[in-house]
Amino acid sequence: MKAAEIAELLNEPACVHNKKEKSGCAKTKPGATAGGCSFDGAQIALLPIADVAHIVHGPIACAGSSWDNRGTRSSGPTLYRIGMTTDLTEQDIIMGRSEKRLLHAIKQAIDDYAPKAVFLYSTCVPALIGDDLGAVAKAATGMWGVPVVPVDCAGFYGTKNLGNRIAGEAMFRHVIGTREPEPVPESAQRPGITVHDVNLIGEYNIAGEFWHVAPLFDELGLRILSTLSGDARFHEVQTMHRAEVSMVVCAKALLNVARKLEGDYGVPFFEGSFYGITDTSQAFRDFARLLGDPGLTARTEAMVVREEAKIRAALAPWADRLKDKRVLLYTGGVKSWSVVSALQDLGMTVVATGTNKSTEEDKARIREIMGDDATMITDGSPKALLQAFKDYKADILIAGGRNLYTALKARIPFLDINQEREFGYAGYTGMLELMRQLALTLEAPVWDKVRKPAPWAASKAAGEPLSAVGVAHG
Ligand code: SF4
Repeated sequence: MKAAEIAELLNEPACVHNKKEKSGCAKTKPGATAGGCSFDGAQIALLPIADVAHIVHGPIACAGSSWDNRGTRSSGPTLYRIGMTTDLTEQDIIMGRSEKRLLHAIKQAIDDYAPKAVFLYSTCVPALIGDDLGAVAKAATGMWGVPVVPVDCAGFYGTKNLGNRIAGEAMFRHVIGTREPEPVPESAQRPGITVHDVNLIGEYNIAGEFWHVAPLFDELGLRILSTLSGDARFHEVQTMHRAEVSMVVCAKALLNVARKLEGDYGVPFFEGSFYGITDTSQAFRDFARLLGDPGLTARTEAMVVREEAKIRAALAPWADRLKDKRVLLYTGGVKSWSVVSALQDLGMTVVATGTNKSTEEDKARIREIMGDDATMITDGSPKALLQAFKDYKADILIAGGRNLYTALKARIPFLDINQEREFGYAGYTGMLELMRQLALTLEAPVWDKVRKPAPWAASKAAGEPLSAVGVAHG
């Protein structure tokens, strides 16, 4: 990738935060790729496309450190879960045969798995030795008739966020706009209802959570042409240019795709979230607003009233168990405010929220939801998080999986909210799951037990032999 192309991606005009000279969300600072390199970000963004063979061109460690690191789910093909790599060695590099290996890998993937397409991810080593992924992809497409898409995302280009954008750019250049959508099947048509085609960009179907929301789209007459990229299929991504509206579900990742769809194909977009009752309703209302169909607006309002009443009734028996519990939230991006809103819907108090990877827009939303004196924390080190937990008298830490052991070692309740989580919290019904998991975590009997002094500590203080409490001498 040329330096000018990287610079263009870094200066995404639709991202307010990125206009900042030094701290833009995709800008590279020393150590920035420790949170994931560009290759990692590109693969995260595209791996959920389920019927594609995803080949990582590079040494095996690159594939090993990124494969399957998200709990994204597919309702059909599982090809995306097969880790494929060219496993380059020193011999391949010295002998100049890495492109040949890549060609063999593509053939093997096509012969063994009949994928709908093959994506090639570049990593640092092939980028440094000058492998031409574009030329290999073109040759392979010509030879075997399967679309082969180069994703030029060498890790040293920059951060994970930049990788997201590179992935979006690759889709825009090589995939979107290469097929027309099928007509709406008769079985999906209902008298008097116009079916509208929409996109969801930055929705990854973590733990299958989008399946909480998808039936409501069907009910309203909104056909999801494609998500980018949770539970997506290659042929769906090809048709994204024909949507009438796009929703950007995560504020930063793939914003460039939404902007270009608007610029080149006139597809308007809005940013929203499916976390929390209020935000889920707002997302559906925004679809209706942008589509300007009075019938859809009426159906949306009726659905919102019905679903809100239903979920509030379902949450009521749990309400007392969580009411006024204090939460320290440490996550990033859209979740730094959307989860606040969800927790407030459950009657909890968010004492502080992490904003390390949040945009200026995210921060503005936090202030809107939590008030002007909202506490935002940027230092996510274990020490700082535990200090904040203590200072704000929190009852539970909600954060990403990397903070799990920080919490467990400090013996404080912890809930995973990031991509490794095992439960889906999106949509109205996702709120019930969130409430259930919060209650189970807070009320687990383990916390009382582990906070008491160990039996041997008490015995030692009293001068009793350890054998008295069942501790054998080795
Ligand atoms: S692409 Fe580069 S930075 Fe990323 S994992 Fe591979 S070697 Fe490391």
